[in-house]
Amino acid sequence: MAAARRRVPQGMIAVALAIAILVPLAPGHAQEAGESMAAYAPAMLPDHVRDLDTRPDAPRYDIDLALDVTPTEATITGSQTVRYTNRAPAALDRIVFRLYPNLNSYGGEMDVSRVAVDGRPVTPDLDETRTVLSVSLPEPLAPGARAAVEMDFRIAVVEGRARLYAQFSYLNGVLALPNAYPVLSVYEPGRGWWQVADHPQGDAVYSETAFYRVRVTAPQGLILAASGSEVDLSDNGDGTLTHHYAAPLMRDFALFASESYVTLSGEQDGVTITLTFDPDRPQAKAAARAGLAMTQDAVRIFNASFGAYPFAELDVVQTPTGAGGIEYPGVFVVTDSIWNPGEDFFEFVIAHEAAHQWWYSLVGNDQALDPWMDEALAQYSVAVYIRDREGEAAYRAALESFRVQYDRFTETGEDNVIGEPVTAYPANAYFSLVYQKGPLFFAALEDAFGTDAVNRMLREYFAAHRYDIAEPNDMLTAFEAALGQDLDEWFAEWVGPFAVG
Ligand SMILES: [Zn+2]
Repeated sequence: MAAARRRVPQGMIAVALAIAILVPLAPGHAQEAGESMAAYAPAMLPDHVRDLDTRPDAPRYDIDLALDVTPTEATITGSQTVRYTNRAPAALDRIVFRLYPNLNSYGGEMDVSRVAVDGRPVTPDLDETRTVLSVSLPEPLAPGARAAVEMDFRIAVVEGRARLYAQFSYLNGVLALPNAYPVLSVYEPGRGWWQVADHPQGDAVYSETAFYRVRVTAPQGLILAASGSEVDLSDNGDGTLTHHYAAPLMRDFALFASESYVTLSGEQDGVTITLTFDPDRPQAKAAARAGLAMTQDAVRIFNASFGAYPFAELDVVQTPTGAGGIEYPGVFVVTDSIWNPGEDFFEFVIAHEAAHQWWYSLVGNDQALDPWMDEALAQYSVAVYIRDREGEAAYRAALESFRVQYDRFTETGEDNVIGEPVTAYPANAYFSLVYQKGPLFFAALEDAFGTDAVNRMLREYFAAHRYDIAEPNDMLTAFEAALGQDLDEWFAEWVGPFAVG
């Protein structure tokens, strides 16, 4: 997520702000897994198709969604099957899903019905926040064993309702539908299932890399943008189309739609980049052309600096979100109020959200517990983008603008480390510390050890943890390995205390 818009008259920088190791239980089982891997290949760049075979035990979602849109409400009728392998060292007695649309900050209404495990009906527990759905298993799931959890669901989105960042909404004809299905939570050995339901600010979702096959049936006139690649389109002959998506190795599936949308596409390093926007808004087409060039540059710069973006597509979607922008796997949104080629914040947000494809989407983290891991790195990445585009002086100016914003905060007498959970920071402290002080940590490492060393640290970290979830100690370990030097004191001073595993 990009910080809410702040007007500071200093230009954009002033924002400151192989082969799968499958254990065939039966011949049919192996064949099923092999076929589904082939189905995902079109969503990967050719050099990364083999990545599909590196996570044979990752969850597999098969989702059907039907969109029905009236002037006052949109409804999503869905069903899904999730095949889940227990990768924990002990048996599991339940599998937990998160119903994000029911968060107060999302403002949707989501109901789940007809839950079954391996074909046997079960009655799940829904917590008082209506966001934690615990599916008790008829029998404990042994380590390495797999269960198929089926469920039906229905989501209502009231037109005009805009909570927090309006990230889940139906506004001005735009449907913003991230997490519009029951999302598996994360099972952390020793801690159990993650079920934080408090979302005061920042990003709400914590999830793990999975394989998605999603079929979306929608009125013919709706233009869709989503995570992954559309691999097939069928005409149902009743005024609706079914869009078939493959979204492998992604930790979420996000969907956006509007009758007003048009698209503009380009290519960078083999990645098809598509901007989806409303052409009738002022400056929209010129902004899309400029935004495409910025996104192409971001992909080029971050590929070279951090490691390769492996997916065939990256989408940028104009929505009315109240945040500057929000990141999702394979897609990010930019708010329509800055969708203008003359708006400096437009370029900042594009670079920041594009960087989240590396920091959050590919290298995952618990966004509620360790928001600095993706947000501070995304901010620092903007400075890296600026240096490539505009030179060293512009890079220094970008860092200075972060410092000015951070200093303005500490003038109140407050300060803190950057490594606290979202809930530990009051609103202004969150943005001042995680978004402004945070990037200064990586810049300080660069001043101390050199640009090449920091590039090596980030490449090592990315290579070691892409498609996985990283914790602070993982970043410390990767950085120390790349540098050949102890960084405990650096992390203690800037990030604060964290468990060293
Ligand atoms: Zn962000």
